[in-house]
Amino acid sequence: MSAVSEFLSHLKTLSIVFFTLLLLEIIILIRSVTGLSSKPDKRQISTTQYLKVIEEKNPTTRYTRRLTAEAAECRVCLSEFEEGEKIRDLQCKHTFHKDCLDRWLQQGWATCPLCRTKVLPDDVVDNYHRMQNQVEYDGSDEEVIFLLSALHGYSSHRFF
Ligand SMILES: [Zn+2]
Ligand SMILES: [Zn+2]
Repeated sequence: MSAVSEFLSHLKTLSIVFFTLLLLEIIILIRSVTGLSSKPDKRQISTTQYLKVIEEKNPTTRYTRRLTAEAAECRVCLSEFEEGEKIRDLQCKHTFHKDCLDRWLQQGWATCPLCRTKVLPDDVVDNYHRMQNQVEYDGSDEEVIFLLSALHGYSSHRFF
């Protein structure tokens, strides 16, 4: 008898976990659908959108020795470019690793690390940082995904 009730209570917990997961996945689905259909709020720029603007303004290219005569180095990480590495050429003709520059631009300086030429329009940078300063509330998707993975981890650990 006790084994049966224990089983039933496990079943109950399991179904609660299951429905919570289902609900969260529905929320994410709805979010992704509405996110696509609704116009992006101009005052809020997520990291993804910010990186997209960077990409639009300064498309990623691959470094090839053949194009540049002298050895060039990324002045952010101070290492020489390797053949085929992802780089960005800025309008000021300075070149950096894609990742180095993206990290730099996300830290609040939307200017060339070398000559301080503006890389992005001021309003884009302002909006991005306003978004970043809004403390984690605002039900970011990362939060939901974290909760989801925690639940997944919990349920698999506990029951399966
Ligand atoms: Zn670099
Ligand atoms: Zn520059």
